Amino acid sequence: MSSKQRRVSVLGSTGSIGLNTLDVLRRHPQQFSLYALAAHSSVQTMHEQCLEFQPRFAVMMDADAAAALQRKLPAECATEVLHGQDALCSVASADEVDTVMAAIVGAAGLPSTLAAANAGKHVLLANKESLVMGGHLLMRAVRQSGATLLPIDSEHNAIFQCMPVDANGTPGQRGVSKVLLTASGGPFRNWSLAQMRDATPDQACAHPNWSMGRKISVDSASLMNKGLEFIEACWIFDLRPDQVEVVVHPQSIIHSLVQYVDGSLLAQLGNPDMRTPIAYGLGWPERLESGVAPLDLIATAQLDFEAPDEGRFPCLRLAREAVAAGGTSMAICNAANEIAVAAFLAGSVRFTDIPAIIEKTLEEVAAVEPTSLADVEAADARAREAASGQLAMYTDNNALRQN
Ligand code: NAD
Ligand code: MG
Repeated sequence: MSSKQRRVSVLGSTGSIGLNTLDVLRRHPQQFSLYALAAHSSVQTMHEQCLEFQPRFAVMMDADAAAALQRKLPAECATEVLHGQDALCSVASADEVDTVMAAIVGAAGLPSTLAAANAGKHVLLANKESLVMGGHLLMRAVRQSGATLLPIDSEHNAIFQCMPVDANGTPGQRGVSKVLLTASGGPFRNWSLAQMRDATPDQACAHPNWSMGRKISVDSASLMNKGLEFIEACWIFDLRPDQVEVVVHPQSIIHSLVQYVDGSLLAQLGNPDMRTPIAYGLGWPERLESGVAPLDLIATAQLDFEAPDEGRFPCLRLAREAVAAGGTSMAICNAANEIAVAAFLAGSVRFTDIPAIIEKTLEEVAAVEPTSLADVEAADARAREAASGQLAMYTDNNALRQN
């Protein structure tokens, strides 16, 4: 890495990826300084982070949370507190910033991720939903501005590491025939549909290998996470859908593989700890110490693989169908999933209602070819309305079943 200190904005700093990012940054104070931290409303965590890292800006999405943070920070803390979407986009695109960790959860992350891409930053992409929704806008912004997109999702980070790289560091496709995206199978890998029907939010969030935020944990349980990652892989690596294959690998040791025309398969292996892909993104093209213990192959002993079961996990099929339909179908699929997952976490629909809500929303809302952020946001809004409109029916049905 060059001797110049890199200035970093961490968007979603209070979440699971945000905390892991700060853990890696904390190990390398000479190489990085914090320009901005941003989160939705967790005042207490943001307060502690501001005191420790002394960023130039702290952005809260919520205005009341920003006011509370401002009151709590001591006068001698130089951090300026801002709030709202415009502030978020400006700390993602400011001239002073080199690297942006996009780790907000869900569609809410799209405007700031796009702002960072348009401004030509090193964009460390954890917020997969922004790419699923606005893939062609985001990839166009990266190409036009000369931004560097570094995937943080462990599978895409693994693929990035195993892909041939052009002289300018852009992943190329020389000799690649396909990529194999590994999936742990989640906590319900061996559950029947009848068991999944009665699954609780806590059971869905009890991931066997990874500790993550609740939304992505539910996505992992339904395999919609792999569906979103399937779409993400097509965009990032410019692959046709038939070049991406999902393989269930319950140990989450192989994070994904690239298959070459000569029969070679290159894989990236490691303990399931997000600090590895985060350190890779922060340090690229150099390697940084991440705090992750090396993999003990003897202790690991066994690696298993199986095909995904789309009968029990229809979300994977729905994501593939959304890619095939193209245009805003992927944004509609993502928005319906966000509504369904939030309703499941709130206890108002069943786990098995999630794919049904997504499928009906994809039928109800017509997709278009998006040319602007406004087109993507309009599709997102229509899908949210359609999916929300279905919730009462599921809630009533479930109440009837319980009586
Ligand atoms: P999380 O729920 O733990 O954290 C989300 C963060 O986003 C928090 O800091 C929250 O304050 C912030 N946030 C939420 N809504 C916001 C809004 N409207 N405006 C501004 N900030 C907002 O989520 P997470 O598990 O850290 O996941 C973050 C993203 O990374 C997701 O897109 C997820 O799919 C992706 N990802 C996570 C993991 C993981 O291991 N956690 C792995 C791969 C990819
Ligand atoms: Mg992943």
